[in-house]
Parts: sequence; C-alpha cells; structure tokens
Amino acid sequence: MTFIPVNEPLLSGKEKEYLLSCVETGWISSEGAFVRQFEEGMAQQAGRKHAVAVANGSVALDLAVVALGIGPGDEVILPTFTIISCAAAIVRAGAKPVVVDADADTWNMKVEDIEAKITPRTKAIMVVHLYGLPVDMDPVQELARQHGLKIIEDAAEMHGQDYKGKPCGSFGDISTFSFYPNKHITTGEGGMVLCDDDRLAERCRSLRNLCFKPERRFVHDELGWNFRMTNLQAALGVAQLERLAEHIARKRQIGQLYDSLLQGVEGIQTPLPRTAFAQNIYWVYGIVLRRETNAQEMMRRLAAVGVGTRPFFFPMHQQPVFRKMGLFEGQSHPVAENIAEMGFYLPSGLGITDEQIHQVVERFKSVLA
Ligand SMILES: *Cc1c(COP(=O)(O)O)cnc(C)c1O
Repeated sequence: MTFIPVNEPLLSGKEKEYLLSCVETGWISSEGAFVRQFEEGMAQQAGRKHAVAVANGSVALDLAVVALGIGPGDEVILPTFTIISCAAAIVRAGAKPVVVDADADTWNMKVEDIEAKITPRTKAIMVVHLYGLPVDMDPVQELARQHGLKIIEDAAEMHGQDYKGKPCGSFGDISTFSFYPNKHITTGEGGMVLCDDDRLAERCRSLRNLCFKPERRFVHDELGWNFRMTNLQAALGVAQLERLAEHIARKRQIGQLYDSLLQGVEGIQTPLPRTAFAQNIYWVYGIVLRRETNAQEMMRRLAAVGVGTRPFFFPMHQQPVFRKMGLFEGQSHPVAENIAEMGFYLPSGLGITDEQIHQVVERFKSVLA
C-alpha cells in the first residue's frame, strides 16, 4: 500500500529557474533582489503599503508584538485554539496572553467572547484565521475602535483568502504570514510582516536587522534580531506568488472533492464550505470525530493503512509550558478542548492528486467502519 503523506508542496512553476539564477549570480543572502520583489508582491496581494520579509511565521509574530510596543503590564487577547507561536510572542515580550474559546462550527476564535476579556491593560487583539475560513472581522474591528486596541492579524494560513471581498492580511494594524511548506505559498521556511504605517514598517525593518543604526553600523540603541529572509527563500516565494490564484483554486477543488466523497459518512464533522463572509480555501481538510474514538486513536489507525495525518492544535490554556508559568490557572474552554481531542486533518497539500484523495477516503471509511 502506498503511503499518502499529509502534505506535499507544489513547486512546478518558475521555482527552479529563479533559484538557479541566485546560484549563478551569487546573490544568496538577504541583500538579493528577490527579497524586495517578494515583499512588493505580497504587499500588493494583501493590499498593504509595506511588507517586511522574515525568517518564518513565528518570528513574524514576535516582531509584530514588539514593534507595536507591547510589553510588561500589557494584555493581548487571542484564541486558545491556535499554534504556540501566537501566545509565545506575547509571553516573550513580557505581556500576558488572555484567551477566548473556539467556535464549534468554524473552529476560529469565538468573537462574541472577546469583549468580556477586555480590561484597562488590554493593548491588542490577536486574530488568527484558522484552517481556511477567516475570523468575522467587522465586530473585532468595532471593538478595537471602541476600546482603542491594536489588531494583530495572523494570516499565516490565509494567503489569497478574503473577508467580505477584502484580502486577509489587510485587517491588522500589523499582519503576518508564514511560508512553511504546508501554506499556499511556500519558501521552505519564511514569513512576512505587513502594515500601512511608515514608522511601524521602519521599526520592523530595524528589529529584523539587529537594530543597526543607519548612521553608524555596529552601534545599537536597542536589541533586535537577525530575522532576515534569504534571497534563495524569496526566489521560491516570487515563483509561488505567481501561481497563487491557481493554488487557491486547487485547494478549493481538494476540499470540495473530500466534501463530496465524505457526504453521508456518520459520526464526523467536516469543514464548513462557506460562511456569510467567505468561501473556505481549505488550508487543511479538518475532521472532528463525534464518537468515542479520539483523534489520536484514529490517526494511529490511519497511519497503519498508509494515510498521513496531523492532529489539530492543542489549546494554549492547557499547554504545560504556560501552566508552569502560572498562566491560565483554573480555566476551561470546552469547545477548544473538544476539537483538540477529536480533531485531525487529512492529506490535503497542493501536491496531492485526485486519485490519492479517493484512496484516502476509501481507507478512512474502512477504518471508521
Ligand atoms: C504556520 C503558522 C504559524 C507559524 O509559522 P512558521 O513559519 O511555521 O513559524 C503561525 N500561525 C499560524 C496560524 C500558522 O498556521
């Protein structure tokens, strides 16, 4: 039985040509021209004035939090159901993460729960669009306006998705992307920070580059990081961006094929095809089990029949690392806890074929039975 991996990237555009040109010209560091070109392309795609390419989507969040001046004494509201990078960025900056539960249908943060978490110390709301559907941004923006809060928008899974016709990545005071190989645009490893404010963009560029003083290199008023993206990574990014529309169309086909093949299967929740404000782009094709078998057990059984899977995220309020710090004590967020226990995703990378999808569903059905 052939093994079907959970993700295979698609590198069938000009990736090879652009990479080769880096090698042939010797432009491999962050000084190469592809970096600027990729930044400009992403800024245009997301409708932003500025884009700052960085090493990955996690450090993009670190940069975003610090660039906004968030630090000790501040609170940031975010979903508990997300990747550790979101809460880690807040904690590393010395601020306090305050989490809200997930919505049982979209798996995104429960927007109705945000307002009750706002205190005089709240500085920002970190919105994370998950698994293919955007968060309902109108009420979030309204809350931010009323309470004078910043919005940090983690659009790592949402290149090419939009909310009410406006691109994801355009909503935050500062927004971030990741280009990990399971995202619709990949650079192997890579990330980006986007904003419209000139000073904020300048601050991101400085923090990304060790806070070198422009007038005297190797003199520093502040500590930054080396979070730079290489020209090799950006070469891949430029080639991938050229095909974003095709990638999104293919992702939707993959999701729709799974939907049709899984129709009528009992005991599972599949992704919502659409909400009032967006059509799913199926960053991954998630399944939540509605029976006694949990995701871990199902994933073991699927692995035994050659199907690669990944578990859903694990809630921030249950993370051992944060509990040891005394964070989130006594909290429970039942929807997030349930989907983390019962949720996993099937192979749905851009490299998958329709035939493989048919095989995945056949094997999944046999394992469920
Ligand atoms: C992938 C991802 C990240 C992290 O990006 P890396 O490039 O892997 O560091 C952050 N947030 C979300 C929502 C993600 O899906």
